[in-house]
Amino acid sequence: MTAKIRAGKIRAAVTGWPVAHSRSPLVHGHWLKRYGIDGSYEKIAVAPEDAEAFYGNLATSGLKGCNVTIPHKETAAAACDVLDEAAQKMGAANTLWLDETGRLCGANTDGAGFLGNLDQMAPGWDDRHGCAIVLGAGGAARAIVWALCSRKFTEVHIFNRTFEKARQIADQFGSIVHAHSWDKLGTYIGKADLLVNTTSLGMTGKAPLELDLADLPKEALVTDIVYVPLMTGLLKQAAARGNRTVDGVGMLLHQAVPGFEKWFGVRPEVDDDLRRLVLDDLEQSS
Ligand code: NAP
Repeated sequence: MTAKIRAGKIRAAVTGWPVAHSRSPLVHGHWLKRYGIDGSYEKIAVAPEDAEAFYGNLATSGLKGCNVTIPHKETAAAACDVLDEAAQKMGAANTLWLDETGRLCGANTDGAGFLGNLDQMAPGWDDRHGCAIVLGAGGAARAIVWALCSRKFTEVHIFNRTFEKARQIADQFGSIVHAHSWDKLGTYIGKADLLVNTTSLGMTGKAPLELDLADLPKEALVTDIVYVPLMTGLLKQAAARGNRTVDGVGMLLHQAVPGFEKWFGVRPEVDDDLRRLVLDDLEQSS
């Protein structure tokens, strides 16, 4: 692995257990080539029993930093000397870097990735600071609720199969965030400026997401963070009735931007070439 790496070359990696499925090397490899940077981006499998020591001693690994994927995001956050606001709120970090003084810094970029995708694909989507409906209350939902609060949405309604998980997120984010059981969706959908699916429903191999969109305002933006398939049942249903839609692959690409900038010193662009590269890879492996 290290034989071809020259001294001084900046190294970064995706770390987790497992990491074989990760598209991050494709994304960062594309940017390294695009910007002519003498760096590398590897996959490093970190077994659960090794995680605390690995992140705690990242400075000795030769890496400038890394992405962190399931199941180590909480362990990684706990190892950091400094966390950004999102990582503090999530208690989980997906991007780590060593600063100039050697401190281990951590960020959670899922929320920023969500915002970056909508900013790029649906400019002006948050101008009204209105009412957002979030389906699901897992890790991604927490990051998205944080992101919506950061854009000053006036109401955020979370609907989840397990009500208690929705309630925990609502409790954390204060009075504009409300938790509901799934069966109450019909009462609120007519108010939505934004409808976002963060459940795994609708993903290839999972049960479909079955929703009645009859009362959803035609001006509402509909987005799904599931990106396999790219056009989920929800997006097709929303587009067929005239709603603006944004698919989820852009979130995956935009969440990678801050890490690349921290490690390699260039803020990379999420462009059509990168999107095509990742979509082709997803198609080939499906
Ligand atoms: P997670 O923490 O496991 O949460 C899964 C969510 O889906 C929970 O709200 C869960 O409800 C709900 N759910 C699962 N099966 C369900 C079912 N049969 N009926 C009703 N609800 C169900 O997962 P996550 O990390 O938040 O990720 C969620 C999805 O987003 C995944 O498909 C993931 O691949 C995708 N994702 C995409 C991006 C991107 O960059 N586009 C980033 C992160 C995640 P309960 O709480 O009731 O179990």
